[in-house]
Amino acid sequence: MKKKIIIIGGGIAGLSAGIYSAMNGFDTEIIEMHNVAGGQCTAWERKKYRFDYCLHWLVGTSKGAFHEIWKETNVINNETEIIDHEVFSQIFDKDRNEFIIYTNIERWEKYLIGMATEDTKPIHRMCNDMRKSALLEPFALPPELRNPLDYIRIIPAMLPVFNLVRKFGRLTCKEYFDKLNFKNEKIKSFLHELYGERNFSALMFIFMLGWFNQKNAGYIKGGSFPLAQRMVEKFEILGGRISYKKKVEKISVENHIARGVILTDGTKISSDYVISASDGYTTIYKMLEGKYISKKIDFAYKNWELFTPIVQVSFGINKVIKYASPIIINLSKDLKIGRTQLEHGYSIMGTSKNSVIIASKAKQSLFLHHKWGLLRSFLTRNDIILSF
Ligand SMILES: Cc1cc2nc3c(=O)[nH]c(=O)nc-3n(C[C@H](O)[C@H](O)[C@H](O)COP(=O)(O)OP(=O)(O)OC[C@H]3O[C@@H](n4cnc5c(N)ncnc54)[C@H](O)[C@@H]3O)c2cc1C
Repeated sequence: MKKKIIIIGGGIAGLSAGIYSAMNGFDTEIIEMHNVAGGQCTAWERKKYRFDYCLHWLVGTSKGAFHEIWKETNVINNETEIIDHEVFSQIFDKDRNEFIIYTNIERWEKYLIGMATEDTKPIHRMCNDMRKSALLEPFALPPELRNPLDYIRIIPAMLPVFNLVRKFGRLTCKEYFDKLNFKNEKIKSFLHELYGERNFSALMFIFMLGWFNQKNAGYIKGGSFPLAQRMVEKFEILGGRISYKKKVEKISVENHIARGVILTDGTKISSDYVISASDGYTTIYKMLEGKYISKKIDFAYKNWELFTPIVQVSFGINKVIKYASPIIINLSKDLKIGRTQLEHGYSIMGTSKNSVIIASKAKQSLFLHHKWGLLRSFLTRNDIILSF
């Protein structure tokens, strides 16, 4: 008889775990508390507008280990169309000065040098770091399935990447930009306001632009909802089952081995294995009652800085708006929206050719991203129709 695996949560992690479990011959059931799968990778419709909450770019759209995983899990198949933008973002400061981040590094380098010849050297150094990051080849296998030879084999090819990690692995963008020592005020202030002020990791910045340059972090046409549904389809074809509108409260443990789950309605479901692909804190401290926790994990949950919550406000506009960039960032700090004073400005997403794809036909959806405070001010107004 097949061994049974229960997976808690039908987001991208749960669906991936489900697909690989079913592919490997397990009797697999996903327990999902929502009425659709996909988790954060979702979109919803209101009056023929589609509001896509999640997907803007996906690492691994053209090659590498992630790409193989996306193909195996049906995120990408022969019919999937990938869009690689020429512009990553278009940014304006409070005086409407413009700054552009191109996805092609040569083009961005030329643009930056044209703006600041005095910074030719640091611009060149930064762009070279991004070019080197292209050599990163993530392991196709998880750590427990790798052998020492797998590590030895990648060393020569990855040496420049190891150097990047060694030099910048612990730096924030602010520290990285300070090290580069830009002189031009415009470059300094835009880069600083975009990434420097927010504790953003220097490596993430370098790799992100490296992936765009390789055309390996494209937008998947159709967006988040169809992507998750393709995974559901693959999972079900492999014989997996998803139980919707069921919430797991506890993981049953016998002799220190997970033996199934107990739902909030009291139902007990037995299994040979349990994989939690739901929130880590809830799994460790509530479903397992904090009984199986290392000092390291406990320390992380109690001390690490939390990611500031982001609120997305979506508007449906009955017009096609043509912009060159998929993300427009307004860095005005002295603006107020409702009663909320903006701390870093705001960004608008989905106003480019891809949002015509996201939205249905001529209807355009527009997303405004800002920190939590904005939601409160919107909720006190009744002249704006919002979609959450
Ligand atoms: C605004 C936004 C934009 C993003 N943009 C991108 C992007 O452009 N590119 C990119 O690659 N990533 C992006 N991400 C990140 C990406 O969406 C997430 O990393 C990914 O979806 C997380 O998947 P997950 O399965 O780990 O978690 P989740 O999506 O959170 O899934 C967890 C699932 O578990 C279910 N669940 C929770 N508790 C229980 C319970 N007790 N019982 C049963 N079910 C339960 C939930 O309902 C949910 O379906 C974005 C995220 C956000 C929020």
